[in-house]
Amino acid sequence: MARGKARARNRSDVVIAGGGLVGRTLALALAKLAPKGFRIALIDAEPPEAKGGVAEDARALALSAATRNLFAALDLWPLLAPKAQAIEAIEITDSALNAALRPHFLGFDDELRSDGAGAFMVEHGDLQRVLAAAVASESVIETRASERVTDFNTDEFAVEVKLGTGATIEARLLVAADGKRSLLRERAGIKCVGWSYPQIGIVTTVAHARPHHGKAVQHFLPSGPFAILPLTGNRSSIVWTEESERGKAIMAADEERFLAELTQRFGLRLGEIALAGPRQFFPLDLQIARSFVADRLALIGDAAHAVHPLAGQGLNIGMRDVAALAETIVEATRLGLDIGAASQLERYERWRRFDSAFSAVVMDGLNRLFSNDSAPLRTLRDLGLGLVDRAAPLKRFLVREAAGRTGTLPSLLTGAKF
Ligand SMILES: Cc1cc2nc3c(=O)[nH]c(=O)nc-3n(C[C@H](O)[C@H](O)[C@H](O)COP(=O)(O)OP(=O)(O)OC[C@H]3O[C@@H](n4cnc5c(N)ncnc54)[C@H](O)[C@@H]3O)c2cc1C
Repeated sequence: MARGKARARNRSDVVIAGGGLVGRTLALALAKLAPKGFRIALIDAEPPEAKGGVAEDARALALSAATRNLFAALDLWPLLAPKAQAIEAIEITDSALNAALRPHFLGFDDELRSDGAGAFMVEHGDLQRVLAAAVASESVIETRASERVTDFNTDEFAVEVKLGTGATIEARLLVAADGKRSLLRERAGIKCVGWSYPQIGIVTTVAHARPHHGKAVQHFLPSGPFAILPLTGNRSSIVWTEESERGKAIMAADEERFLAELTQRFGLRLGEIALAGPRQFFPLDLQIARSFVADRLALIGDAAHAVHPLAGQGLNIGMRDVAALAETIVEATRLGLDIGAASQLERYERWRRFDSAFSAVVMDGLNRLFSNDSAPLRTLRDLGLGLVDRAAPLKRFLVREAAGRTGTLPSLLTGAKF
C-alpha cells in the first residue's frame, strides 16, 4: 500500500461496506458507544431515496427480545414501538395443503407472556426509515450512498478501501455488511459452506376481517412452511415458502388467482382476506462463511451467514454479530488497542461463528423435517410436537433460544450500554 499517498486521502477508524439493516445498526452502535473522536465511514451501493419505501421491500421482520434490547440500548425502541406488533402467541400446525382441518400441534402463549421473551413484528420500510434518520443525526458517521466498495488492500497497520469512484479510504478495520452475495468476502478468498433450497420465499401483506390478537401461525405444508405473522391493525405479513417452479408460477399469476392460492393456505380463521401490500419473492439459501474474519476484515449479517426464513431469525442472528463486534471494537479502542489486530478479530469470531452455524443447521433441519408429504414422517413429527407441547421446561427453553437469550451474550443484547 502506498502509505504516504493514502494518508493524504480519507481516513477513518472503521469502514462499513453495506448500509442494510445490519450495517446501519453497527454504524449507530459505534457512534453511540465508541470514545470521542472515533470515525465511521458507511458506504452503501443503494441511493438514499431507495431506502425505507414500502414498495422496495415487502418483508416484515420478527425481532427477537435480544434485538429489541439492542434497539432499546441504541435509543431506537421508543421510535419503533408505535409501529411494532407484539407476538403474543404462536400456533404450529402440520397438514397437507387440502386438509379440511389444520389441527393445532404445538402452541406457545404463556411462555411468551411470562418473562418478556416475546418477539415483535416490524415492517422493513419502518425499520429502515428509523435507522436512516438515526444514522443521519450522528456527525461521526460519514455516509456515502450510491457508492460501492470494489476492493481493498491490507498491511500490518491499516486497510486501504477502494471505492467505485476511484476514491480510497484508509482505516484500521473494514466490515463487510454487503449481504448474501458479499463481494468483500469473495475478495478476501473466504469460501462458504451451504446450498440453495429448491424453494422460494414469497412475501406479502394481507388485511383480514377479524383481529389476530397477536397470534402468529406457522402451517407446515408439504412444499414448505406458510407463516402468518401479526402486524399492527387487522393486518398480517405472509412468509410463504413454496417449491421454486410452482412458487414462480404463483408469483406470475394475476391478482385473483394469487389471492385464491393464498386463501387456500391462509384459511378462514380471520374472516375474508384482501391483499394489502406488494408481493415479492426471494431465493432461499443456507450459507455459512468458512471464516468470519480475514486480515483487517470482519463479516457481519448475511455476508457471514444466510439461513432459511422459517423461524424469522436471519436478521436477529445478524444483530448478534453487531452487538459482539461493537463490544469488541469499543473495548479495544478504550484500551488503546488496534481494532483490526488479529487478536481482536479472533475474539469476535469465537463469539459468533459457532452460534451462527448452529442456528443455520437447526433451521435447515426443521425445513427438511417438515417440507415433505411422507405419512410416516408426519406421524413421527406430530408425535414429537405433541410431546414438546406437554413439556413446559422444554417449551420455555425453546422460547429463550428463539429470543436470543441463551449463551454468553454481548451487553447490548441485554439492553445495557457498556
Ligand atoms: C422471506 C424472508 C423473510 C425474512 N424474515 C425475517 C424475520 O422475520 N426476522 C429476521 O430476523 N430475519 C428475517 N429474514 C432475514 C433478513 O431479512 C436478513 O437477514 C437481513 O435483511 C440481512 O441484512 P444485511 O444488512 O446483512 O444484508 P442486506 O439487507 O442484503 O444489505 C446489504 C447492503 O449492502 C449493500 N451492498 C452490497 N454490495 C455492496 C458493496 N460492494 N459496497 C457497498 N454496499 C454494498 C446493498 O446495496 C445493501 O444495502 C428474512 C429473509 C427473507 C428472505
